[in-house]
Amino acid sequence: MSQVLPIIRLNEEEEMFREAVLDFAREQIAPHVMEMDQKAQFRRELLDQFFELGLMGIDIPEAYGGTGGNFFMSILAIEALASVDASAAIYVDVQNTLVNNAFMRWGNEAIKQKYLPQLAQEKIGAYALSEPSSGSDAFGLKARGEDKGDHFVLNGTKLWITNAAEADIFLVFANINPELGYKGITAFVIERGFDGFKVGKKEDKLGIRASSTCELIMENCIVPKENVLGETGKGYKVAIETLNEGRIGIGAQMLGIMQGSLDAGVQYAQERSQFGRQIAQFQGLRFQIAEAKILLEASRRFVYNAARMKDAGDDFVMEAAMAKYFSSVNAEKVTSRMIDIFGGYGYTKDYPVEKFYRDSKIGQIYEGTSNMQLDTIGKFLLK
Ligand SMILES: Cc1cc2nc3c(=O)[nH]c(=O)nc-3n(C[C@H](O)[C@H](O)[C@H](O)COP(=O)(O)OP(=O)(O)OC[C@H]3O[C@@H](n4cnc5c(N)ncnc54)[C@H](O)[C@@H]3O)c2cc1C
Repeated sequence: MSQVLPIIRLNEEEEMFREAVLDFAREQIAPHVMEMDQKAQFRRELLDQFFELGLMGIDIPEAYGGTGGNFFMSILAIEALASVDASAAIYVDVQNTLVNNAFMRWGNEAIKQKYLPQLAQEKIGAYALSEPSSGSDAFGLKARGEDKGDHFVLNGTKLWITNAAEADIFLVFANINPELGYKGITAFVIERGFDGFKVGKKEDKLGIRASSTCELIMENCIVPKENVLGETGKGYKVAIETLNEGRIGIGAQMLGIMQGSLDAGVQYAQERSQFGRQIAQFQGLRFQIAEAKILLEASRRFVYNAARMKDAGDDFVMEAAMAKYFSSVNAEKVTSRMIDIFGGYGYTKDYPVEKFYRDSKIGQIYEGTSNMQLDTIGKFLLK
């Protein structure tokens, strides 16, 4: 009889890796979380530690300077970091699940040799698809690329670009042949120092405040021809397929956020007394905590399943959309409920739950809003 392993069971290597990331997050990141949130600035030395620990190139093969793990391990790292600080998790998430993934999948050998070691060891990457007038309708982008023989000239503006303040390597989508519609979209690798490229205004956000989100401006930006990632006109495929994987990363962020806030709620319920008893003794409150645990564990099964399907080479697109949708909706519910457990104290910055709540909201917006996930799932069912 074949043995079916529970999706959430970790093998020894996965368990050790998860514990190591969690220890690092609790010891090195936790003391700075509130200050970084308040200043809306992530500490550079923590980013350097991410590189030293191999967290920025988790599934990049060792031959390209990476850690040589798999996608599931990236998911475990993102979840563990998010249980302490979602902003920390996002640096690791965007690097691994979007940028590195796109380079590994679509880069030719020369691009891989040049950029993967940098991404694994020292340079932060950013993924730039959205624009002021195109978010959900991503392929309606207005950035343009003009073929000049040995180089392209790019013009346009990108908005909401995660990691942009610290990034050195940018994956930017522009259309080189608008008459062909989305079939003109092309992916370009732009380095921070390229002529005509600059990082613009940084957004002041509700949550994930220590994760930078900036505008990018390209004014006659010169990009060498060899910096096209994949084929010209196939950028739409690069974008879609990368985002399909990225969505599982957002799911992992949401798991960490739920876990961090639930841990805080469980602890507080056993410390706070009212009516001469620990509030944890009240059945009404125990039920609220139990329900939060169910929402977290159900979400975890969705996210781990999608990640394991990706590593196994199965078709995971609908699973990823369901994982992102379900975990982000539940993250808002769970974190809101944990504020309830803390009463008035939960509404202040003296306890971590208000930040978990603020950080949860983005899960329903980026890498495709909840409506766009439902649209994807609907398309699978109603062809
Ligand atoms: C903090 C943050 C970080 C981000 N990081 C990045 C990044 O690194 N790189 C990047 O490229 N982008 C990034 N984004 C952009 C993000 O992916 C977009 O904001 C998102 O896709 C939504 O696009 P929009 O903001 O233009 O909203 P819109 O597309 O204008 O949507 C507005 C509303 O209309 C709904 N809607 C739109 N179309 C439909 C439809 N067909 N059916 C039903 N409802 C619909 C949406 O669900 C939403 O509720 C980031 C955004 C934020 C806020």
